[in-house]
Amino acid sequence: MIIVLLGPPGAGKGTQGELLAARLGIPKIATGDLFRAAVREGTPLGLEAKQFMDRGDLVPDSVILGILRDAIASPESARGAILDGAVRTVPQAEGLAEELASIGRRVDAVLLFEANHAELIRRLSSRTTCDVCQTPFRGLEPGTACPRGDGGRLIRRQDDEPEAIQNRLNVYEELTAPVVEWYDSHGIPVQRIDAIGEVTDVTARAAQALQSVQLAS
Ligand code: ADP
Repeated sequence: MIIVLLGPPGAGKGTQGELLAARLGIPKIATGDLFRAAVREGTPLGLEAKQFMDRGDLVPDSVILGILRDAIASPESARGAILDGAVRTVPQAEGLAEELASIGRRVDAVLLFEANHAELIRRLSSRTTCDVCQTPFRGLEPGTACPRGDGGRLIRRQDDEPEAIQNRLNVYEELTAPVVEWYDSHGIPVQRIDAIGEVTDVTARAAQALQSVQLAS
């Protein structure tokens, strides 16, 4: 099952994607995590992505399509994958559909995590993130050792600074929100998930939405 997670920054795609991936036993492919790892390692991809990410802008479609192509062709994705934040523009949705069609597959489900702007800003500006496993935490100061014990330190992501947050929300409205209509009009109905509330409640809503997609197919 190929599942695309959509939603504004801070809606919880990463957290929910992780939990759904574990439940379904398929990998989660998070382009943001891939880029941050590449930045950390100082690879050419990281150097290219960093200039866009720090401002809260999108990395060019051509870069994303290369990553998506590799990700869906990898043996780990044979049973499916959860694409977390990996489709953020209509050309990316089109490119992914073409890639999948060429190997006889398709996007099976699209989940849209929804939360209001005040809540998104509150979440993004109050979180710290492990510089190794990328897990976000609430209520822990920058510099704290990662509670997961992976040797990482919690940092405030550069794109979680107020100016970049506002830009990310604008970019979402302008470039990513149209992806929702694109899927709806291409026969892949978008399942809207209320992303406010306890993490476990949101996961239960998402799992239920996926079940209804599976039953319908
Ligand atoms: P968020 O979804 O909270 O904004 P992510 O960690 O998923 O954060 O992504 C961080 C950054 O990585 C984005 O702001 C963007 O610069 C870049 N990025 C990730 N995925 C994509 C994509 N599919 N298209 C363009 N840029 C992307």
